Amino acid sequence: MLAPPSGGYDTELFVDTPDHDLICTICQGVLRCPVRVACHHIFCKKCILQWLRRQETCPCCRKPVNPSLIFVMYKMSKSIGRLRIKCKNRSCGCTAIFPLSEQHAHSLECLFERILCPHQGCPAQVLRGELDAHTRSCEHWRQPCPMGCGTLLGHQTRGQHNCYLKLRQEQEAQQQAQRQIVSGLQRKMRKMQKTMANMKRQIGLLCETLEVMDDQEEAEVAEAEAEGPGESSSSSSSS
Ligand SMILES: [Zn+2]
Ligand SMILES: [Zn+2]
Ligand SMILES: [Zn+2]
Ligand SMILES: [Zn+2]
Ligand SMILES: [Zn+2]
Repeated sequence: MLAPPSGGYDTELFVDTPDHDLICTICQGVLRCPVRVACHHIFCKKCILQWLRRQETCPCCRKPVNPSLIFVMYKMSKSIGRLRIKCKNRSCGCTAIFPLSEQHAHSLECLFERILCPHQGCPAQVLRGELDAHTRSCEHWRQPCPMGCGTLLGHQTRGQHNCYLKLRQEQEAQQQAQRQIVSGLQRKMRKMQKTMANMKRQIGLLCETLEVMDDQEEAEVAEAEAEGPGESSSSSSSS
């Protein structure tokens, strides 16, 4: 936050010059957590408590001040909180303007706020708006391997990472392809065996047919031989 050696807010922050009676006479800043002492003079709480440690008198009118009798000015604190201020990062380029009370909330999202790179071990301080660009080249950036092997990868190691899960996946795909080839071959073999059995059967049938024909031929020849001389004798006998 705005560092107080001075307890109050830097008057330069305010869009409109703050009212004279909102200025702490000790720090010359705009009252931060204003408190009133017995003489009705008002100071930042931190400023007057520091002052009273050295002397228990009002820095404005020198009247005695009892440190246990100081009153917090809630209403005034609220109206100061409504004053519009410029972002403290305006020198870096932030043009935002908002009520003083929203200063903290703005600093948590201001793109011009200088923040420490969140990646462990990185010493870089970057503007919040430039963090993405920095992260893309941050040497300390780490992300678990997307395959889920548990290895933390940096920008450089990501390209070189030989993930065993990936290797295993590739191996499984290869084995699957090989199994498909083998079962394809087995199918072909069974088909060939069937064809061969068919052919064998047909050859067997063919052989049987040939044997029958052979037998018939032999029988015909034998018949012809047996008939031959008988016929000639009968023809000679009839003539
Ligand atoms: Zn002050
Ligand atoms: Zn006084
Ligand atoms: Zn800002
Ligand atoms: Zn970094
Ligand atoms: Zn991996």
